[in-house]
Amino acid sequence: MAALPLRASTPDWVRLDDLASSYKLAAPAVGRDGRVVLRNTYQQLSFEPGARRVFSDGWALYLNSELVRRGSSWWMDRHDATTIIAPLLDSNAALSGFGARLVVLDPGHGGGDPGARGQDGLEEKALTLDVALRTGLRLQACGVQVRLTRDRDREVGLDQRCELARRADADLFVSVHFNSAPDRHTQGIETFIVPAAGALSTSEKRQVARRRERGPALGNQNDAANTVLGYWVHRGLLSYARGEDRGVRRARYLVLRNTGCPATLVEAGFISSPEESRRLRNEEYRQSLANGVASGILTYLSRVREANHSGA
Ligand SMILES: [Zn+2]
Repeated sequence: MAALPLRASTPDWVRLDDLASSYKLAAPAVGRDGRVVLRNTYQQLSFEPGARRVFSDGWALYLNSELVRRGSSWWMDRHDATTIIAPLLDSNAALSGFGARLVVLDPGHGGGDPGARGQDGLEEKALTLDVALRTGLRLQACGVQVRLTRDRDREVGLDQRCELARRADADLFVSVHFNSAPDRHTQGIETFIVPAAGALSTSEKRQVARRRERGPALGNQNDAANTVLGYWVHRGLLSYARGEDRGVRRARYLVLRNTGCPATLVEAGFISSPEESRRLRNEEYRQSLANGVASGILTYLSRVREANHSGA
């Protein structure tokens, strides 16, 4: 990690005061809960020092690097500033040049691969297909072109899923999964995007992956657009489903690394939680999840169109 100077922003680090003034936000203020807050009339970013986590208008995202305090200032990794914070504050610059034509939806697992299994026999592969099909119908009703990596119960390899998106020249890719944990009380919704090249995934406390595996992937070409897509899909899901917000996290899943277009993967609830799996058995609840994913995608697509019309 590069040493931090005390005054001005550097090639690797951005002083939070400089970031605030360039986006017309009030200077950083530390709240009673210890969070560092940047805000203007329209938006609020609230950083949790030491936790790699930021809340954008109340919705959680994980940074690649922690906020650091030096002297009287807070500093942030420049890559986080440009690929996470800037796209949240102004999506026009991040999305200019991206397409808004074809959405590829990827129902996780299938065929001989059931994915996670609930105690009551509920299978992840059936839930992912159901929610993806519902999401697709909702998007098509809004005039969006949709392809699915599978539309029935069959096995599709991860590489095949990526290849389908690349060949179809997809403009965005959303993979649908459901979660499982040893603790039956664990609940909520997580959304994943690929970590920055070289950065840890959210679940890593220290560098355990081999360096080669953390090198730049195809998905890193879209770091800023991934943030906007992941954020709005996550926010859409939580707005409709009202689950616990476990944040937009970062992991090197193959479909996020190799798809070639902005991509996100949702874990839309824990099959291992008796309470959440009861909800997942309910058709209306699954429709709410689909409506949430679709609304996030629609927001992303409208932001892309806006960016391409604004001449940013
Ligand atoms: Zn899965």
